[in-house]
Amino acid sequence: MNIYADNAATTKMSKAAVNAMMPYIEEFYGNPSSLYSFGQRAKEAVESARETIAGCIGAQRGEILFTSGGSEADNQAILSAAYFGRKSGKMHIISDTIEHHAVLHTLKKLEKEGFSVTYLPVHTDGIVRTEELEAAIREDTCLVTVMYANNEIGTIQPIREIGKICRERKILFHTDAVQAVGHLPIDVESEYIDMLSASAHKFHGPKGTGFLYARKGVRLTNLIEGGAQERGRRAGTENVPGIAGMSAALAESVQNIEAGQKHAAALRDRLIAGLAEIPHSALNGDPVKRLPSNVSFCFEGIEGESLLLLLDDKGICASSGSACTSGSLDPSHVLLAIGRVHDVAHGSLRLTLGDDATNEDVDYIIKSVKEVVDYLRSFSPVWRDLCAGKAQFIL
Ligand SMILES: *Cc1c(COP(=O)(O)O)cnc(C)c1O
Repeated sequence: MNIYADNAATTKMSKAAVNAMMPYIEEFYGNPSSLYSFGQRAKEAVESARETIAGCIGAQRGEILFTSGGSEADNQAILSAAYFGRKSGKMHIISDTIEHHAVLHTLKKLEKEGFSVTYLPVHTDGIVRTEELEAAIREDTCLVTVMYANNEIGTIQPIREIGKICRERKILFHTDAVQAVGHLPIDVESEYIDMLSASAHKFHGPKGTGFLYARKGVRLTNLIEGGAQERGRRAGTENVPGIAGMSAALAESVQNIEAGQKHAAALRDRLIAGLAEIPHSALNGDPVKRLPSNVSFCFEGIEGESLLLLLDDKGICASSGSACTSGSLDPSHVLLAIGRVHDVAHGSLRLTLGDDATNEDVDYIIKSVKEVVDYLRSFSPVWRDLCAGKAQFIL
């Protein structure tokens, strides 16, 4: 068996995306800024993609800015709101503790520049509370940035409610929707979203391509100086094949969103039920308000890294919220934020199923995880102490 269950890390490109890219790789390789018609072919592809993508999230064509991916879009949205805020003396930002590092590290940089940031807690369900957001708003708040759905535990935030609060207070609202775009229905108008980040490779498009939606009238600073591409807001020759591929991937994902959600949620719930049979285990994050493809668990008495390596031997690609995978020894900030203690957070497993997953795949994953957890516990000193009553079980 070979099962790719790490779709939150990246996805396989769709046929539609590959087919949409090929003409701009092999044939129409002109520069979109060139005046001759050969270059204009490329420009047409970029502008048609802009139109398609805007339509997929309820935006206008002029509100879509192409970037190199989700990280760049996050950086540009947050830095723009901060630097324009500072011009009117507003140097307070509200975010939360489970954001992606593209957001958190940008906020850290701003804190060093004198901005103050309030990080809203997420409760044990992995969701922020709108009352706490309202209470955190100050006279000098220039931005609220809260992710649409979390990449580790899959929890979905009350985006429309947050957007409404921000719109009423005339505060800019940005959402990192990298995990949500193409997977959940999104409408920037009715959800009061001012800025939104997305990344093609999370919805079956190519890597290194993404977009930032910025509502008409929202000002942006450019991160990259150079030519006048993207109306002066993002210099550099456009990634024409990437943009064409992203557009095709998104159009297809959005078209299939409802059926896809149902199929994925059924598999997800089967997987959750199966893994919950493992003693001293727990699901991370709200069981319902979560991405249809996300399953995140903690198992007491084991190390997530060993679990991943043994699952790899069984042909399963998965991920762990914990540490060594990302080259640091600290457990995931997301798992700590929902109240998992260090030891428990180290024994985490994230499985994010693909659109083509089947019940057989899920059953094989359940059987394999059960075997591997049993095996690892059989020689874990931590597990032995727990069983001997020398330490307390938490889960
Ligand atoms: C993957 C991811 C990003 C980064 O996107 P890239 O295109 O890889 O830069 C940002 N935020 C979230 C929530 C993500 O899952």
